[in-house]
Amino acid sequence: MKALDELTFDNRFARLGDAFSTHVLPEPIDAPRVVVASDAAMALLDLDPAVAQDPVFAQLFGGHTLWADAEPRAMVYSGHQFGSYNPQLGDGRGLLLGEVYNDAGEHWDLHLKGAGMTPYSRMGDGRAVLRSSIREFLASEALHALGIPSSRALCVIGSDTPVWRETQERAAMVLRLAPSHVRFGHFEYFYYTKRPEQQKQLGEHVLAMHFAECLEQPEPYLAMFREIVERNAELIAKWQAYGFCHGVMNTDNMSILGITFDFGPFAFLDDFDANFVCNHSDHEGRYSFSNQVPIGQWNLSALAQALTPFISVEALRETLGLFLPLYQAHYTDLMRRRLGLTTAEDSDQHLIETLLQRMQGSSIDYTLFFRRLGDLPAEQAVAQLRNEFVDLKGFDEWAAQYVARVAREGVSDESARRDRMHAVNPLYILRNYLAQKAIDAAQAGDYSEVQRLHDVLTQPFTEQPGMEAYAERPPEWGKHLEISCSS
Ligand code: AMP
Ligand code: MG
Repeated sequence: MKALDELTFDNRFARLGDAFSTHVLPEPIDAPRVVVASDAAMALLDLDPAVAQDPVFAQLFGGHTLWADAEPRAMVYSGHQFGSYNPQLGDGRGLLLGEVYNDAGEHWDLHLKGAGMTPYSRMGDGRAVLRSSIREFLASEALHALGIPSSRALCVIGSDTPVWRETQERAAMVLRLAPSHVRFGHFEYFYYTKRPEQQKQLGEHVLAMHFAECLEQPEPYLAMFREIVERNAELIAKWQAYGFCHGVMNTDNMSILGITFDFGPFAFLDDFDANFVCNHSDHEGRYSFSNQVPIGQWNLSALAQALTPFISVEALRETLGLFLPLYQAHYTDLMRRRLGLTTAEDSDQHLIETLLQRMQGSSIDYTLFFRRLGDLPAEQAVAQLRNEFVDLKGFDEWAAQYVARVAREGVSDESARRDRMHAVNPLYILRNYLAQKAIDAAQAGDYSEVQRLHDVLTQPFTEQPGMEAYAERPPEWGKHLEISCSS
């Protein structure tokens, strides 16, 4: 276990030079205090969790002081936002403080979000508000606990610094961890600004640092692109299987590592709705829940375009063609497991699709449906769940198929079936209204609810005594919260 001053830095991205990022010092926030910290994220840096109580912790992650070996830098990138190319983006309010390597030999980017203005701030103030920082923290750690790849969050630091959004709010900072902060938009930036030398430098950096195994392939860039396609297919399959809606799948928010990245107005589904749009600025529903799959492919094709200097168009096309079948295979596999099935039958995809059709419009809580399906033997479980469906005949048809399907597998041990299903079907999920209650308390100065919610969500599959309230369906007011897109 390390103390805060024992971290070892090796700032590989910073060494790429000024064409890739700009040196900027964090602008401190007033009266910094720890809102919440993640022991699990601290463990990634070998940090003793007790360091969160050290006054230096809030100073460091509130931008007041820095390690001597840190090299804070704002990265430059561009990207496609809502389908249109924006030629100039970059870290407008976040700084890569440096890369720390841990005892296991892994490198972790330390990225401080809300650290003040940078050359890429455009019209923004360089700040992040408390509510959006809490949401990013909770989501990163909750997704990770669900087994969904994500950037991680070490802590949220609150402050007295005023910031203006729709009303006056308080600034906060979140310390984000990821093995890399390179986005699809990094490649797009050097491609569209026609800087082949630097694009090659970026490509070689990413290959060597993050896709070293691809260097052994005859065409390393193609192997890397294939790996990115595979990882994104798997990531989006997990989002769809667990009802996660990202909300802003612009290519500047897509990680080359295939991890969930850059949290805005995201949401987990409460009631199942394939057409759910969590981002209120997304008037056309470009990033609706079900559109995440074709948009994932669209984003990969934007990346492919930026990689045309390295890879032939035919090879890129062929590799892009792998996305949908890979996605479908992962998704079907995950959903089979959520349904408690241990074998594969061709008709399973149809069984899954019809279930979702039956759920649509019936106000079925997506998370609790699967949890309850595993509580009891299949026939009893569907009998209990049926009353929630509007189209009883439709549900009965599905339920008969499901019960027959389970019977074909044969369940010799009902408690093993329940344990197996509960291990993949969470009881606790980061519902918007739960986050909002924790945020309301934090804005009034009480951080205990954020901490409790974080604790509950670190073990989403395990029933926790006394935490029943966190496993309930949202109240009616909690289903229709407008999550502000300003952050
Ligand atoms: P996002 O929608 O959060 O992914 O942000 C898109 C771009 O806007 C990124 O380049 C951000 O760094 C930048 N940005 C977002 N909010 C601010 C802000 N308050 N100040 C400066 N830049 C910002
Ligand atoms: Mg972003």
